[in-house]
Amino acid sequence: MNDDLHRQAGMRTINTIPLLLASTLMLTACGNSNGQAAQKNPTMDSSSQYDHSNNPYYSHTDTARLNVPLSEWKKLLPEDLYYIAFEKGTERAFTGKYWDFEGIGTYACAACGNVLFQADSKFASSCGWPSFFQPERKDAIVYHEDHAFGMVRTETTCGRCGAHLGHVFDDGPEPTGLRYCINSVSLEFIGKK
Ligand SMILES: [Zn+2]
Repeated sequence: MNDDLHRQAGMRTINTIPLLLASTLMLTACGNSNGQAAQKNPTMDSSSQYDHSNNPYYSHTDTARLNVPLSEWKKLLPEDLYYIAFEKGTERAFTGKYWDFEGIGTYACAACGNVLFQADSKFASSCGWPSFFQPERKDAIVYHEDHAFGMVRTETTCGRCGAHLGHVFDDGPEPTGLRYCINSVSLEFIGKK
């Protein structure tokens, strides 16, 4: 938790440094992208939470539905992600990487890379999980009636791989009035290049 706070505090500091210095840093970062280390692990940046280099299904552009056996996901995904995504777990409120994260870019499914939300549809919610009012596209997400824990809720899963994401509620802000309440663990942030 403290590490996350420090990291975010560091990012805010970077946002305030003069443009020239920021450009220099970006050029330096771009220079690294041609190096071997970056090629070996092309999906990681400071906002990433997972290394997807060993996941052959991970893609931000392929929207074809996947039908991967759970046993294979279990081999490919980190334990916390597998638990949330394919055993319908829920992370504790206020513990995820993105609940109060304000980066500019997009959010993808952490299991398969399917782009789910734009950062400009994210809003500050007091619930302790990342909250969005609108998905990236209509079929990015699939909806299921969920009767667990004596409640009737609408579960959301990834439209490409079926990973559990969270739930959607009708108490969100305009223009949709919806609140997609999503586990941070199920998300991967892709910063705007
Ligand atoms: Zn997915």
